[in-house]
Amino acid sequence: MTYNTLYRNTIMLLKKAGNEAPAFDTMCLFEDILGMNRHSLIINGNVEVSENDRKKIEASAQKRAEGYPLQYILGKWSFMDFDFFVGEGVLIPREDTSVVVKLCIDEIKTLKKEAPKILDLCAGSGAISVVLSKLIPQSTVTAVELYEKAAYYLRKNISLNQCKNISSVIADVFRDISLFENQQFDVIISNPPYIISSEISQLQKEVRFEPETALSGGIDGFDFYREIIGSWSRLLKKNGLMVFELGENQFDTVKNMLLENGFSDINYALDIQKIKRGISGIKYS
Ligand code: GLN
Repeated sequence: MTYNTLYRNTIMLLKKAGNEAPAFDTMCLFEDILGMNRHSLIINGNVEVSENDRKKIEASAQKRAEGYPLQYILGKWSFMDFDFFVGEGVLIPREDTSVVVKLCIDEIKTLKKEAPKILDLCAGSGAISVVLSKLIPQSTVTAVELYEKAAYYLRKNISLNQCKNISSVIADVFRDISLFENQQFDVIISNPPYIISSEISQLQKEVRFEPETALSGGIDGFDFYREIIGSWSRLLKKNGLMVFELGENQFDTVKNMLLENGFSDINYALDIQKIKRGISGIKYS
């Protein structure tokens, strides 16, 4: 079998499995596993594949066909032009989250916070923390994550991106606020789990390989917003900023929670599908 044939067979296998981007996924597998890009495939397409290479591609293609996330197979994914290690136990950074990060940066600029102290709750892989620390180099970021498996990636990504201004802390949003009680922050940001627990089984099959703890926001999806707005907002300095990522149709509820808890100047950011994906509010007193 030649590399060309293996390439075409792999695309076919993924296509049959209902993969939405079979050629893209196949090229990613070839690059990752064989170190072969589009260019070397053109040059070496008619070369016989070694038994070893064929087996490696077939095994990972099979896994991918069963819905195992491409990002976990590759072990690395890019978010806002920065690289992140990913694997089982940590949520894969989503493109949608970039609009939340941008909203946060815009608000920080508007408020003229020069060296903001930022608290990122439910930090996961560290996508938000790393990008904020890179794009606002004078900031100090505290990244909080509960699960050791996710925190392992968080720490790896902090060092991969050589972020000197992030510290990571293992803590539970619902139990461990006392660890931070003597600190004050300019910004609290979070992409918390926000899916309604009963709807998780209906998500696309890739998502089932991701940690449920990173997805489930409880019976109505709002558990984390209630807790963070209700309790953690007292750690904000005067004129402090709170920013969240939101699930579909969550804007109005979270907006009201913010207003009821003394926040104003509510702003939002739309994702590519025009869903209100990010929300921000300011606490002036
Ligand atoms: N955006 C993710 C999804 O739709 C959910 C992430 C989260 O709950 N914060 O799969």
